[in-house]
Amino acid sequence: MTTHDLDVIAAAKNWRVTDTSAAVSTNINDIFATDVFGLDAMRQRLSKPVWKSLIATIEEGQGLDSAIADIVALAMKEWATEKGATHYTHWFQPLTGSTAEKHESFVTPNSGGGAVAEFSGKDLIQGEPDASSFPSGGLRATFEARGYTAWDPTSPAFIIRHSNGATLCIPTAFASWTGEALDNKTPLLRSIEALNQQASRALRLFGVTNFHKVFSTIGIEQEYFLIDEEFFFRRPDLMMCGRTLFGTKPPRGQELEDHYFGSIPDRILSFMTDAEQQLYKLGVPVKTRHNEVAPGQFEIAPIFEHCNLAADHQQILMQVFKNTARRYGMVCLLHEKPFAGVNGSGKHLNWSCATDSGINLLEPGETPHENMLFLFFCAAVIKAVDTHQDLLRASVATAANDHRLGANEAPPAIISIFLGEQLSDVFDQLERGNLNESKSGGLLGLGTPILPHIPRHAGDRNRTSPFAFTGNKFEFRAVGSSQSVSFPATILNTIIAQAIDDMTTQIEAKLNSNSGSASLENALAQTLVETIKQHKRIVFNGDGYGHQWQLEAEHRGLLNARTSLEAIEFIPSEKNKSLFEKYNVLTHRELEARHEIALDQYFKTVNIEGETTEWVAQTMIVPAAVSYINELAQTAERTNGLGLHPRGISDILKEMVELTNDLTSALTNLRKVNNELGGETVHSKAFHVRDNVIPVMNEVRKSADAIEQIIDDKNFPMPNYREMLFVK
Ligand code: ADP
Ligand code: MG
Repeated sequence: MTTHDLDVIAAAKNWRVTDTSAAVSTNINDIFATDVFGLDAMRQRLSKPVWKSLIATIEEGQGLDSAIADIVALAMKEWATEKGATHYTHWFQPLTGSTAEKHESFVTPNSGGGAVAEFSGKDLIQGEPDASSFPSGGLRATFEARGYTAWDPTSPAFIIRHSNGATLCIPTAFASWTGEALDNKTPLLRSIEALNQQASRALRLFGVTNFHKVFSTIGIEQEYFLIDEEFFFRRPDLMMCGRTLFGTKPPRGQELEDHYFGSIPDRILSFMTDAEQQLYKLGVPVKTRHNEVAPGQFEIAPIFEHCNLAADHQQILMQVFKNTARRYGMVCLLHEKPFAGVNGSGKHLNWSCATDSGINLLEPGETPHENMLFLFFCAAVIKAVDTHQDLLRASVATAANDHRLGANEAPPAIISIFLGEQLSDVFDQLERGNLNESKSGGLLGLGTPILPHIPRHAGDRNRTSPFAFTGNKFEFRAVGSSQSVSFPATILNTIIAQAIDDMTTQIEAKLNSNSGSASLENALAQTLVETIKQHKRIVFNGDGYGHQWQLEAEHRGLLNARTSLEAIEFIPSEKNKSLFEKYNVLTHRELEARHEIALDQYFKTVNIEGETTEWVAQTMIVPAAVSYINELAQTAERTNGLGLHPRGISDILKEMVELTNDLTSALTNLRKVNNELGGETVHSKAFHVRDNVIPVMNEVRKSADAIEQIIDDKNFPMPNYREMLFVK
């Protein structure tokens, strides 16, 4: 028996749950948010004045009273140590897209040989991790290499458990000493504030006053793969790059469509239940789970929450998934395209905005007044998406997402909006209506027969659209599965704040002109019509996968940035600089830094893939091919010696030799382009790897995959797609 056979059997049979300490509770109420230092825990442990002061910070955004920091810190520490935490960390989101932590013990040894517990208000509010190794895009010169973390009291502290203890995690923002944002959270918080200001202003204009704040709500659907760890650790490409750089599609893929929503295997379900229980304890409101389209692919979706909290929860979710999978002998793959030719993974970002008094601004209502609000905010989203197609495209631009977008399984690289037939019809009618004459007709006859009733939760579905209205929210579907949602959400909040700002200003101008004779309804109606006329090109309800749409979109003048690098180049344009500056979301320097980091991440990703391709092909696949050639040659020779004519064997031999020649010459090219630096700037390096490395990697893969299809199975040095995707 070969080692290879053993792998498969072991993977299928030998998995064990290695840690059953997390007893499963069937009552969510008993466990929900028990590992979160949330409002309830705070209220119980803080005096009334301290609690009130903290609440003013959390709910009304007032500056934190530094006098109470020590008291809050003490309460937090007591709570955490009772929960078994020995360490605390400021938990932040550097521009790598993942999270970072640096643990400090609650207990500090003293010189007398004892130890004292320490965690002060200062430790809570501010930390100083060595920031020099996080990407800064030039924001941080070496002489100011330090960065600092600052407590975000609006996202509660939580406890992350491991086999031997627990750590208190304190969500923080991360900035340079000069005050520039080095993370994804800071601009997100700023964009939430920008949206709050503009949406509040619009609501007040419409006479809505029963609220304090407006914020965006997001709900995120996460797709992922699970494979047996036995296989993962035998695939250097998966380990190094998160995706397979070699491998042919199995004879049975998703063709039978038997996996999607199919029953979930026991091992997977056990994993899901365990992960969900942990997430409940962390206050993440997990709701939906199901099989996805590809074999081995699944999805999880929590219920939507306040944007900042949901973004933190998303990072926690990815971490919990990765850790928990290992307990079941599996590895959770979050990459956008772990397996070529098999459905990739996305992360649908559902977006809406709501008042703290509970009005969803994208919910079509029952009354004309509610519908007026709805049409206004809906039109603002349309305007924002059309005006800033480039930014939305750039917000999902990564080397990994390039394998997915436009590949007829995920939305195309063209940004457009699906409204559904009924809502499109409402806007069409609005546009056609002879509104200038409807002065006395009330609000465009909204609620009267001129306009059809706006359907609540219109049931249309269009899987091919990157940005779809789904009843009471918009769903941005181009986001990649491994991405942090913070940057895409920041973009959405900011561009929609701007559209609301512009439209509100237009309405105000109309009200102020005409010697104040225009009614609010008419001013709004005119503004809606102007907005729709100007931006309706972005609305597309048809098939986004078809070639026809590519042509049509070009005709409409829509942006089509096919590769991520093209999209990334739009980030620092004048339009975008002034947008982010105006709403205090990113300074010019901060925006340029993000452009640079995006280029750098692109370069590094492809560079690592190029070198891993070379390494695996050279040290694993070529030697395997040579052994097989040797075996075939010896057999052919011996058979010939016996006077037989091994035609079939000679044919395979010939093919193997030819493919191996192709492979080695492609490898020679790959080595050459891998060794070229591609110039001095991060910009030229990124384009070098896109234009020179990727095509040669593909050549290497082509020959290697052809070899995989004819080589003796036991000679192939890595587990194949069939095994990885189907053995559970
Ligand atoms: P669908 O099949 O329509 O995509 P799912 O239930 O799978 O529905 O996911 C929809 C996601 O959208 C969930 O995370 C849900 O909580 C979220 N969502 C629903 N309403 C809103 C809203 N008002 N704002 C943001 N997200 C929302
Ligand atoms: Mg969805």
